[in-house]
This record gives sequence, structure tokens and C-alpha cells, in this order.
Amino acid sequence: MMLPVGATIGILGGGQLGRMLSSAAAKFGLKTIIFAPGDDLPAAQVANRHINANYTDTEALEAFANACNVVTLEWENVPVSAVETIEAAGVAVRPGAKALSVAQDRVAEKTFLEACGIACAPWRAVDTLDDLQSAFTAIGPDCILKTRRDGYDGKGQVRLNAESDLASAWTELQEAPAILEGFVPFDLEVSVIIARANGGEIAPYPIPENQHSGGILRRSRVPAAIPEETAEQAISMAKSLADQLDYVGVLALELFVCGDGRVLANEFAPRVHNSGHWTPEACLAGQFENHIRAVAGWPLGPIDLLYPAEMDNLIGDDAATPLETLLEQGSLTLYGKTDIRPGRKMGHVVRLLIGTP
Ligand code: AMP
Repeated sequence: MMLPVGATIGILGGGQLGRMLSSAAAKFGLKTIIFAPGDDLPAAQVANRHINANYTDTEALEAFANACNVVTLEWENVPVSAVETIEAAGVAVRPGAKALSVAQDRVAEKTFLEACGIACAPWRAVDTLDDLQSAFTAIGPDCILKTRRDGYDGKGQVRLNAESDLASAWTELQEAPAILEGFVPFDLEVSVIIARANGGEIAPYPIPENQHSGGILRRSRVPAAIPEETAEQAISMAKSLADQLDYVGVLALELFVCGDGRVLANEFAPRVHNSGHWTPEACLAGQFENHIRAVAGWPLGPIDLLYPAEMDNLIGDDAATPLETLLEQGSLTLYGKTDIRPGRKMGHVVRLLIGTP
């Protein structure tokens, strides 16, 4: 069923993704309520209402559910119990508990990806130092130890090689349940941003290539410099994941492209994604609009690339650049964060590469 104009979409999470989702909803006369703990959150600044409560506050979650026609999320670490409480109150959450629980745990995620026929780097679950030693023997020496849960932007990760001291790596991750992954000698990192409508219709955006430094995305550029077959393979991997999750909304599958043609999945995000921030400028219907359309049960909008484009994140002190200079750099989006901190995503700039081959 299509939600009528004027209906209310609840958003779990209060960051910049929620802010851009709220703005996209407002374009259609849909209202948004943000549910997230904290004051003056980027999303709450532009939404119709903010419920400032913890994700474990059942009463507040029920009040939120009662005020919404449908609920979505902009942060993948929302406790699954919050989604279950909202669903128990009779309100659909799109994407739902399944996508969220798989994405929250790297072991569940790799297991699910592989069950969908999506290749990943070799990996082993690690719960003890003994596990780490045997996993390292099996897939080392070039590998990465990552916490199973709560890692983002390269946090909760230790790179290992033949000289590494496994005991100190294990201590560094505070002996948290982890996964050991083989290090992939990739040529490029790309992502597939794909929208899936309530009825299963699918719209994969053109594929961007992504440059990271210090584990944080710095720049995405579209279209990625990859052969057509590689792009097709990447899209079919993302389609299979979205179908198997019976997903509704936008998801992002992050992939490594190797020189020998292999395409391996890194992880997926059950939400709109930083590497898709160029879509509102470079396509008629951007990722935020298509996420809102899908969640509202509407048909998806066109995702064809009108121009090649690149997007630069403004991270930490980048945002201290004089405003006139930032405005000259391209189409500027700021997230309404006043407090500049190292590594904090403050905004982004999109440039359309008109006339660029
Ligand atoms: P993640 O938090 O898993 O997305 O990792 C952050 C970044 O670390 C990725 O975007 C890659 O640049 C790098 N990275 C993560 N896992 C691997 C891997 N198995 N092999 C090579 N690089 C990796």
C-alpha cells in the first residue's frame, strides 16, 4: 500500500543520514519523526519532531510507533530489540530486524553473504587468543582482526602481518568477540548502492569507486573505472543480497575489486550510505529520495547517471575552511554540526564532472 502524502515516517537515529532522509521526505509532503538520544541532533534540526530517548526505552518506542505510519533507520547499530518493540506495536520497520541483525555482526554478515553466493575474503570467527592463533595459521600472515560488533570507519580493527604479536593485538581489541579476515590486495574499492521497493522492484545506482584514508571514506567518484563485466557482477551480488533479505529501502554493499578480476564483499550497510552522497546531484532521484519512496511503498524514481561526479567528505578541520571557499568547491551540504572534532563527518561537496570523459 502506498502511504498518502502527509503521512509520517519514523527514523531511528539522529545523524546526517537522517537529516538528508527527512529533507527528502519533506520534498513529497511526508513528515518525519526522529527517535534518538541527544540534543540538537543533525536530523532533529530538520525533522517535524524529535523523540529524545534511549533505544531501550520501551514506552518511548511505543509512543513513537503510535505516531508513525512506518519506521526506518539511519544507523545500523540500533538495537534489534527496538525494532521488535515497534513491530510488536503494529508498525512496520523497513528494512526490518533481519537485515539489521545480520549487518550488526560480522560473523552473521559473512555467513549470510556467502549463503547468497557472494564471495568474501577468507575469514574465521575469533573468540579466544587460541582461536586467533589457529585462524592466523590458516589465513595469515597478511590479515585484519576486527571486532564482530560496533566497528565503523576503521575503528575496532588491527592490521596483522608476519611480525605481529597476536597477544597484544588481542589485548588491543579488549578481547572482544572478533573475526580474522585475510587482507585483500585490492586495486579498487567500490560500492553498490541499490534501492529495493516494497514489491521487490530493484534500482542499482551506477557504481562509485571509493577512496579511504585512516579507515574513513574521503572521496567517491562515479562511474568507477571498472570493466562492464565487473560492474555487472557487483550489481548481481547486491541484487542477490537485497532479494535474500527481502529488503525494502536503500542498501550499500562495499566491495573490493582485485587486479585478477575477483570481486569480494567487504560489508554491507542496511541504510543509505556515504558513498552514495553524490546521487541527489548526479541522478534525478537520489538515494535519500529512493529510500523514502521504498519505505512509503511508492514506486522508485529514476537512477540513471546524468553526469559523472565526485563527492568529497568534509572531515574534522576541513569544515573550518572559510565558507566562501567551501561554497566555491561545488554543491555544498553541511550537517548542522557545530562542534568540529578530528574524524567527524561535517559535510560533503559534490562536483559534477561535466565535459569529463
Ligand atoms: P570496514 O570497517 O570493514 O569497512 O574497513 C574499513 C576499510 O579498511 C575498508 O574500506 C578497507 O579500505 C580496509 N579493509 C577492511 N577490510 C579489509 C580487508 N580484508 N582487506 C583489505 N583492506 C581492508
